[in-house]
Amino acid sequence: MDEVTKEKLEAIRRGELSIVENVERALERIEKLNPKINAFIEVNPEARAQAEELERKLKKGERLGKLAGLTIGVKSNINVLGLRATCASKTLENYVATYDAEVIRRVKAADGIIIGMTNMDEFACGSSGETSAFGPTDNPAALGHIPGGSSSGSAAAIAAGMCDLCLGTDTGGSIRNPASHCGIVGLKPTYGLVPRQGLIDLAMSLDQIGPLSPDVYGAALLLEVIAGRNPNECVMLDVRGVELADELNVDIRGMRIGVSPKFEELTELGVMEVIDGAIEKLHDLGAEIVEVDLPHLEKGLPAYYLIMSVEFFSATRKFDGRKYGKRIEEVCGEEVLRRIIRGRYISRKEYRGKYYQRALQVRTLIRRELMSALERVDVIVGPTVPKLPHKLGTKLTPMEMYAYDYLTVPANLAGICGGVVKAGEVNGIPVGLQIQGKMLGEKAVLRVMRAFEASA
Ligand code: GLN
Repeated sequence: MDEVTKEKLEAIRRGELSIVENVERALERIEKLNPKINAFIEVNPEARAQAEELERKLKKGERLGKLAGLTIGVKSNINVLGLRATCASKTLENYVATYDAEVIRRVKAADGIIIGMTNMDEFACGSSGETSAFGPTDNPAALGHIPGGSSSGSAAAIAAGMCDLCLGTDTGGSIRNPASHCGIVGLKPTYGLVPRQGLIDLAMSLDQIGPLSPDVYGAALLLEVIAGRNPNECVMLDVRGVELADELNVDIRGMRIGVSPKFEELTELGVMEVIDGAIEKLHDLGAEIVEVDLPHLEKGLPAYYLIMSVEFFSATRKFDGRKYGKRIEEVCGEEVLRRIIRGRYISRKEYRGKYYQRALQVRTLIRRELMSALERVDVIVGPTVPKLPHKLGTKLTPMEMYAYDYLTVPANLAGICGGVVKAGEVNGIPVGLQIQGKMLGEKAVLRVMRAFEASA
């Protein structure tokens, strides 16, 4: 799938592929495959008309924006005017968004066509795509297995070729984990690079919106479109925008790539073998492999689950049934309820200084550890998910499910960026390579991803 997005955009610009045809093909594919894959919750009924409008602009000789008629799937926790932002929950099953999130305004301004709302774990709480009130999503790259989560539908839609690009969100791995399991490209941007206005929070100090794509170019392009400060958001970084897509093809010779022995400790053997092969390849491309020490990495997981639960509990207080949909505790699934109860419990006054504060201290520790490692290297490379995806319907304990997140939560705790590109397969199941970068180090991350992709 090397460069498919770039080639499609060129075909559209040259008039070899009409935008209407592009949209129609996507709709046909969704109609055909969605009953089995369940990647989309809703399709945009205006997509065809929007394609016709763009086609007219193109025929008149007007210049189209960066996304020039590409079809974009949107995770169901992002507000798109007129479509349902359900968070894949019964709580919000009839909630129709009354405005566009800032990222959606930017996608539309760049002439992207929203093709529909994708399936996800309920309120983005999960790593498997199985907790949706609209049913689980299948993995097009390994049928019968979970696609990963929580941006399950977004990753599956790309893997099944149902649309060109998708938006997902990543609080503790929800873009990178499904990208890895579905064998596609995903990127979690630096915290504060992409506006969150119009995103329904899981945990606001960790959430970032980011791209899922069949190729590195598409991820870079969509990130370019959505990134950059929003004057209405005070917690954003003061960055005007980023130029990435046309600056990817760079020799990585001499680049310093960090690898930690911790990765091997935490990862299943078969997965690690694929990752070792990928690191070898980066070495062959001329990168210098440097060992970095991340002694407390595994402590990120419990810290994440405490911090996320406290923030999620607080975020869900607005779903009391008075304004938005149904009262959350009355209709939500088991995992969402577990987190609400946990969040309520640990934020009680008598526990002050105990769980939450300690978790914040661990967060600082992890951040320092990653930051100091990233002073010595340009990027850190390793596995994305420690295990292969399980078969759909397998019963896992909550801890077994959380264990999928060991290697992805540290980047969220530290606020740094991380991308995923397919490294290889184990028995036909994709395994993704994770490349973590400094704060605002997206360019270095994407360059390593592109170099790896080009060498495949
Ligand atoms: N799997 C993690 C969780 O369940 C991450 C979720 C996410 O990034 N939205 O919380």
